Parts: sequence; C-alpha cells; structure tokens
Amino acid sequence: MLTVENTTTWLNKFAEQIEQHQSYLSELDTPIGDGDHGGNMARGLAAVKTALATQPDDLTKLFQVTAMALISKVGGASGPLYGTAFLEMAKQSKTDTDLDVLLAAALAGIEKRGGATTGDKTLIDVWAPVVQAVQAGKLTQTVIDDAVASTKPMVAKKGRASYLGERSVGHLDPGAVSSGYLFTTLLATEG
Ligand code: ADP
Ligand code: MG
Ligand code: MG
Repeated sequence: MLTVENTTTWLNKFAEQIEQHQSYLSELDTPIGDGDHGGNMARGLAAVKTALATQPDDLTKLFQVTAMALISKVGGASGPLYGTAFLEMAKQSKTDTDLDVLLAAALAGIEKRGGATTGDKTLIDVWAPVVQAVQAGKLTQTVIDDAVASTKPMVAKKGRASYLGERSVGHLDPGAVSSGYLFTTLLATEG
C-alpha cells in the first residue's frame, strides 16, 4: 500500500538515482537518440524533489504535483509519458492505494499516450513485466534487471530510436533504464 510517507521516500530516492546516473542515461541516448535523456530526467526529478518538499497532504495531491513537475520540466518523449503515469496514479489513488492497481493504471496510461506495446524497445518493456510481477507479489531486483536487459536485442518500433531500425539492436533503451531506477528504488522502499 502506498502512503504519502513511503511514496515521498520512494520518489526522493528515484530523484537521487537519476541525478547519480544522469550522464549514463544521456550516453545511452546518444547512439540511438539525441543524447538528452539524462538531462531531461534530471531536470524533471529536481522539480519533483522541490514539489515533494512542499509536503502534499494526501497521496492524490502528491501524485498530481509529481505529474505536473514531470510534464512541465522533463520534455521530450519521456516527459509526457512519465507525467501521464503519475496523473493516472493520481486519479486511481482517489479510490485505491494498492501498489498493483496504481501501477496498472499508470501502465495503461503510458500505452494509451505513446501507442507503444511490449517489444517496441521502450520503457514499456520494463513497466509491463514489473506490473505483472507486482500483481503476482513477486517483484525482485532480477525481474527489473532482466526487463531492462531485454531491451538490448530489440529493434526499436517507437520513439527516436525507431528511425534507426535494425541499427537500434545492441543498445539498451534509455527510458527502460530510467524506469529500472524507478522500480529499484520502489523495491528499496517497500515495507
Ligand atoms: P526524446 O526521445 O524526445 O529525446 P527522451 O530522450 O527523454 O526523449 O526519452 C526517450 C525515451 O522515451 C526512450 O528511450 C523510450 O523509452 C521512451 N519512448 C519514446 N517514445 C515512446 C513511446 N511512444 N512509448 C513509450 N515510450 C517511449
Ligand atoms: Mg532523447
Ligand atoms: Mg530530445
């Protein structure tokens, strides 16, 4: 179950990971994109940290301010997608605080917004198996790491990397890696 307290802890840890791995995320985005994913995410998560510091008083509000910070500061393709994920969690949190239900709503929002599906070499290739594992009560670091690694041999079908076609093979998807940090920090926060 998510609460204001554990979600604040989770997202602050996520912001820390993004900050720490900013250069790596941009490096990943260089051969198959435009090299800005680390900078985009770092800018967005800095804004999320500022929003969380205002201590939103319920979970819905917390997700809303997070979504707004991401939508207004991340930019690129990933900003609206991460933003949509948190907006959907904000909506769902009015009736539910269970992690599996919230994450499933977020994933559905990302799929609808970006039109991508599993196997397209995007952050969905991390979100989908993670949501499944959470629903089964079996989220582990291995599930997350395997999901991130699974994007390497894929041919990109959406986003900038898709312009490269077959030449996108052999590279991790940067958005999959940043989503990997989101779920690694979730795992470190639970309980
Ligand atoms: P941009 O490509 O606009 O520079 P970013 O570099 O911040 O934006 O984000 C790129 C990431 O966004 C990709 O690595 C991929 O995971 C994700 N992405 C791009 N397009 C889509 C889409 N249609 N659906 C889901 N994820 C996507
Ligand atoms: Mg980019
Ligand atoms: Mg860009």
